[in-house]
Amino acid sequence: MKTRASSKIFILTLFFVILLALTGCAQQSGTQKQINVVFRYDDYSSKSTTEIEQRIIDLFHDDGISITFGVIPFSLVDDTLEQSGANLLQLTPEKEAFLKAGFESGVIDVVLHGYTHKAINPEVPSEFTGSDYSTQLEKITEGKKYLESLINAPITLFIPPWNRYDLNTLQALEELGFSTISAGEGGEAPETSKLEYLPATIDLTQIQAAVSVARNSSDKQPLIVVLLHDYDFKEHNQERGYITLPEFSDQVNWLASQSDVRMLSVTQATQIITDLSPQRYLLNTQNCQRIYRYLPVPLHGEACKLQYQEPATLRTILKISSFYLAILLLGFGISFVAGYLIFPRSKFLMNLGTFGSMALSLVVLIYLFHDLEIYLRGMIISTVAVSVPLGLLVCYQLVKKRAKAPQEK
Ligand SMILES: [Zn+2]
Repeated sequence: MKTRASSKIFILTLFFVILLALTGCAQQSGTQKQINVVFRYDDYSSKSTTEIEQRIIDLFHDDGISITFGVIPFSLVDDTLEQSGANLLQLTPEKEAFLKAGFESGVIDVVLHGYTHKAINPEVPSEFTGSDYSTQLEKITEGKKYLESLINAPITLFIPPWNRYDLNTLQALEELGFSTISAGEGGEAPETSKLEYLPATIDLTQIQAAVSVARNSSDKQPLIVVLLHDYDFKEHNQERGYITLPEFSDQVNWLASQSDVRMLSVTQATQIITDLSPQRYLLNTQNCQRIYRYLPVPLHGEACKLQYQEPATLRTILKISSFYLAILLLGFGISFVAGYLIFPRSKFLMNLGTFGSMALSLVVLIYLFHDLEIYLRGMIISTVAVSVPLGLLVCYQLVKKRAKAPQEK
């Protein structure tokens, strides 16, 4: 009896030590790391709204932050006509001066955003996807040359219009010495690609949610890329816009007030973030489309939609799954052994233990999941709440079977 009791105490102690250790590990993450928030303003061109751009630049200048401008080098005078000489409108002298001044003061990070930004296929808009290699090469070459002569510095970053591109685009970019492509998620990224991939992850409404997710993530260099346009602002278009300039200013000032947040341009991010490999880009798409579909939201916090996750996240997911599987097995084992020791002695305790634990678990699970706001502790309790009645039920079946056997003789 003594050995049985001491082994029970040993198993229970081990169980709680593992729980405490794992809970402690999980709570450690998220302290003292820098969350990188990159701002990418697309569609700067002769046709974009200078008033809004001036307000953005003033705001970033005051906070000493750099913002990336995706520049369309040539706009079309008439969007319905061909992209020929007379119909091509390069930046106006005012727009050129604005961009140059912003670049020289360090506020604007100049990035090439297509050639004319005209879609070659209106159904799935893209300026490049489906176009042959030499056409793409020519367009990117001209755009790059023009911007380089304007700011007198190399242009090595590219943002494809509508975030769409194909393998020919990547080949042309590599041929022309580009280092980085910033599109959206889900594009092409051959494993052998020499380019760095830094996709946009959120719009202006998701900043605080993304920072919260980044804080709780296991990423060592959490990365959020905010995409904005002039038409996002109500001051540009009351109907299409979803934010006002003062609201935007509040968001930027809120970020600036967070001690663990660092605001960057795309170029600055490429210098600071160590892994922008095609593998990371591919993994983010896979995380979103496959893995997260099979995991409850509390385990990933929709992180893949808000931040550009590090490859280690996949390992973290596997770790989390193993963690809960271990609890499940442990809970099952302990309750089974306990039932095995107690049930043959009392039918009353057997029924009470088995069905009582099932009812109690149901109440606990409904309570925990009623608002879907379930985190680490809640997940552990729910796993235990599933494993214990399961262990007792299997034991119940076994003890009943054994009790019946002699009677049948
Ligand atoms: Zn664009």
